[in-house]
Amino acid sequence: MIGCDCKVCQSDNPKDQRLRSSFLVERMGTRILIDAGPDLRQQLLRSNTHDIDAVLITHQHQDHTAGLDELRAINFIQGHSIPIYCTEAVEARLREQYSYIFQNSKYPGIPQIDLIRIPEGPFQIGNIELEALELQHANLPVLGFRFGKLVYLTDVNFIPESEWPKLKGLEVFILNALRHEAHHSHFTLSEALEIADRLEVPQFYATHISHQLGLHTEIESELKNGRNLAYDGLRFTLASS
Ligand SMILES: [Zn+2]
Ligand SMILES: [Zn+2]
Ligand SMILES: [Zn+2]
Repeated sequence: MIGCDCKVCQSDNPKDQRLRSSFLVERMGTRILIDAGPDLRQQLLRSNTHDIDAVLITHQHQDHTAGLDELRAINFIQGHSIPIYCTEAVEARLREQYSYIFQNSKYPGIPQIDLIRIPEGPFQIGNIELEALELQHANLPVLGFRFGKLVYLTDVNFIPESEWPKLKGLEVFILNALRHEAHHSHFTLSEALEIADRLEVPQFYATHISHQLGLHTEIESELKNGRNLAYDGLRFTLASS
């Protein structure tokens, strides 16, 4: 946090230095990015990512959409527009926020994006099969995504009954866990861990972590095997992929 002198914000441990939440899924040459927040440029640079086949947007909050303009760098490399998958409500917000992208008279160098509606049920992007989950972030609908035996849910504080079957048989489960204190639109760490335990997932990662949660090493030491805090730059491979 800008201007914060708490022990997390002042920590030298790179695992305490978090950019906004984002996730990249790769399978057999297909790469899908989830969310394009204000730190996207830095995230693409430091992970040496320059080939993205599609972007999924979970919801219209700025910390998940403010980096969309950075995709123009990917356009330059690929030489074509990039598909952005989102809901109708997110599309409306993006058209407002990025009006210059959607004007008829386009100036050179603006991002080339194709807005695509996310279908119901499983669908395919390149070599990756996926399915959206419809969840709640306080009053705001938000999407999560399942890729094979992996599920990524950020900015969620309620999972409707209809979506629980999509959380069965997971190998890795990633869920937001903002802090210890209750929050009106995010799960707390204990709420997230309770869900992970209920689902009996072998590997759980907490994401969208606030500086208020505490130091990475201290929280990690309190977690049991297979329950971890995600950190910037974390990579893993699914056994089932
Ligand atoms: Zn702080
Ligand atoms: Zn949000
Ligand atoms: Zn967020």
